[in-house]
Amino acid sequence: MSAGGKGKSVVAAVDLGGTTFTVGMLDRAGEALTSASYDTPRSHEEPLALGAAVAAVQGLLEKAAVKPERLVAVGLGIPGPVDPETGVIKQCPNLPELDGIAAVEMLEGEFGVPVFLGNDAFCATLAELRYGAGRDVENLVMLTLGTGVGGGIALDNKVRRGPRQIMGEVGHLIVDPNGPKCGCGNHGCLEAIVGRDGIVDRALRLLEQGRKSILEDQVGSDHDKLTPKLIAEAAQAGDELARQVVQDTGYYVGVALCDCIVLTDPDLILIGGGIAAAGDLLFDTIRRTVRHRSRISGFDVAKIIPAELGNKAGMYGAAAMAWEELEEGGSA
Ligand SMILES: [Zn+2]
Repeated sequence: MSAGGKGKSVVAAVDLGGTTFTVGMLDRAGEALTSASYDTPRSHEEPLALGAAVAAVQGLLEKAAVKPERLVAVGLGIPGPVDPETGVIKQCPNLPELDGIAAVEMLEGEFGVPVFLGNDAFCATLAELRYGAGRDVENLVMLTLGTGVGGGIALDNKVRRGPRQIMGEVGHLIVDPNGPKCGCGNHGCLEAIVGRDGIVDRALRLLEQGRKSILEDQVGSDHDKLTPKLIAEAAQAGDELARQVVQDTGYYVGVALCDCIVLTDPDLILIGGGIAAAGDLLFDTIRRTVRHRSRISGFDVAKIIPAELGNKAGMYGAAAMAWEELEEGGSA
C-alpha cells in the first residue's frame, strides 16, 4: 500500500477458525494493508477466541500505525450458523464455548464501531464473488471441501442465505439416501461422503480389503495418520487406490453440482479446500459427471474451476461484508 492510502478508512476483518484465526486491515478496494494468522486459544467455559481476536485487531492497528479513527467497521466470520440480525453466534461446533455469545455487542463495546457477523461459508463465497475467481460473474455456486463441506450461492451479485440462513448449504444435499451418517444426523449428505472423515473412511475400507497402496507404506498400521491431503498426493503419484478414492469423491461432488445447477442456473462453479489440490484427476471426474448427468442445463463444464483466495477467503469476505453492510446501513 502506498503512502497515498495513509488517511483512508479501513475495516478490520476476522476469520475465526477452530484451530487458527486470521485478521486483516482492508481498504474499500479489498486491499489488505496488513494481515496475520494466530493459533485460536481454547477454553471450555470462556470465549477466549473472541478476546484473542480483539487483541489481534488492536495489535495490527498499532503495528500498521493505523489511527483508531480510521477504523470504520469490523467484519467477523464464524465457523457455524449465526444470526446476523441479533449479532448472536447460534452454534459453533468447533468452538462450542462461543455458542449463544452476543459477539456483535461484545466487539462493538471494544471498538466503538459497527460490527457485522457472518458465517464463514458466506464470507468465503462473498470473497470469491468480489475479489476472486468469481469477480466477473453475478451468479455462482461455491463448494469448499475441507473437514466439512461448505457452500455458498450468489444470485444477481449477492450471496444468498435465505430467511433461516441455510441457503447454499451444499454439504447437506443428499447424494446417497442410504449412505453414511452425517454430522447433521441425516444419512448420505455430501459432507458425510466427501468431507474429511468420509474420504478417509473410504480409503481405509479399500485398504482393509487388502488392496495394495503406497498409503500403507506411509501410515502403516496407524490409520489415524491418513488424511485427504496424503490421499490426494498419492493419487497424483499414480497410486490406484488413492485415484479411486479421488474419483469417487469427484463423482459425488459432480452429482451434487447437477442439483445446484438446476436449482440456481449459475454462470460459474468454484471449488476450494484441501482436496481440491488433487487437481486434474478430481476436476476431470467432476466435469465428466456433470457433463453426463446435467442433461437439461447445457452447463459448460469448463466453468467448474478452482477458487482463488485459498485460506485468505474468509478474511477477504469478512471485510467485503463489513463494507457492504456499512454502506447499506448508511444509505437506508
Ligand atoms: Zn448432513
